[in-house]
Amino acid sequence: MRVGVLGSGQLARMMKLATQHLNVSFAFVAEPGEATEAVHGLGDVIVADANTTAEQLYDAMGQPQVVTVEKEHVDVARLEALSAFCTVSPNPKAVSITQHREREKHFLQQLGIPTAEFASASHPAQLKQAIEKLGYPVIVKSCESGYDGKNQWRLRHCADWEQLQQLMENESLDVVIERWVDFSAEVSLLAVRTVDGALSYYPLTQNRHVNGILFTSQAPAPIASERLQRTAEAYLQKIADALDYVGVLAMECFVVGDQLWVNELAPRVHNSGHWTQQGCETCQFENHIRAISHLPLGSTTQRCPAGMLNLLGKKIAAPERSVPGSVLHWYNKTCKPGRKVGHINVLGLTSADVENALRQLEATLSTTQ
Ligand code: ATP
Ligand code: MG
Repeated sequence: MRVGVLGSGQLARMMKLATQHLNVSFAFVAEPGEATEAVHGLGDVIVADANTTAEQLYDAMGQPQVVTVEKEHVDVARLEALSAFCTVSPNPKAVSITQHREREKHFLQQLGIPTAEFASASHPAQLKQAIEKLGYPVIVKSCESGYDGKNQWRLRHCADWEQLQQLMENESLDVVIERWVDFSAEVSLLAVRTVDGALSYYPLTQNRHVNGILFTSQAPAPIASERLQRTAEAYLQKIADALDYVGVLAMECFVVGDQLWVNELAPRVHNSGHWTQQGCETCQFENHIRAISHLPLGSTTQRCPAGMLNLLGKKIAAPERSVPGSVLHWYNKTCKPGRKVGHINVLGLTSADVENALRQLEATLSTTQ
């Protein structure tokens, strides 16, 4: 089996590392200038620019049976063109919808799935009107190319309008404007869907973000209940079926009162599922490759309470020595402020153990240069 991955970051790396025992070989496709150190030594690395044709790329990847993505910001036309040569999972339509916030929100609305109240704008006057209609505070998000809180502007009152000055000068801007959600928690649900449409779910994970970047995850989610898990599963099933999705699909949600509002979808393995590497019988990375390669899925059953802490621009050396039950995953990337360079998974006998371990790691991190 040969898999081509569009992208060469840590998610691609972990797909390979999780499937060493499955006899799958990999080719990773980077754009010119894109970092590739996370996948060094793990397969062929191909640099493709806008002029590389689908056929050239397919050949350069070693004619894989399937091509997948590790990021949503990929050229959908390229995915469509590659479909003439091999299977593309998730399919180009699923990527096209989930890579664009407005398309994604309309898709969710059509399925009757609750989201934050929003409006869209494609020029400055429209943007101003939308903000006035929704009322402060709002979050303005670019429709494309946003991740880790980038390309987002949080406006608490009209004085913050200046933040958008630069954007205002830009003639064409496609943004969604969301009313600020006063959520009690953020959770995510990951599912894996096979070509036959069978779905398996991981348990709800509770996520804490700092400055729009995921910092810690915990599962089971302290806020979870059976009802919340079932609601999330029902939403994700509707979404995955409507997209005829194959592979791992992630859904980020706000918990508002006793409701679940979907914030965004990711057509790929997801940072909030990294804890499954130690915490579940089969992790998200292995199950993604299994699903797209038509191999039987592994069990998504959780082994024990688990958590994850992201390393943003710095490393904790040997955390397993100071914090019992922790495992370091290092991405082989150079440290830059705020950059995701690794994560630490923690396991515990109880959720309280996991919370304690995360607190200890956070304390260590705050004293690390
Ligand atoms: P990522 O790709 O890392 O998940 P992102 O840049 O795509 O992030 P979002 O997930 O939409 O962007 O937003 C990042 C975080 O900002 C959310 O997890 C949440 O903490 C906060 N946030 C986003 N939208 C809202 C909202 N409407 N109200 C309140 N907080 C919000
Ligand atoms: Mg998000």
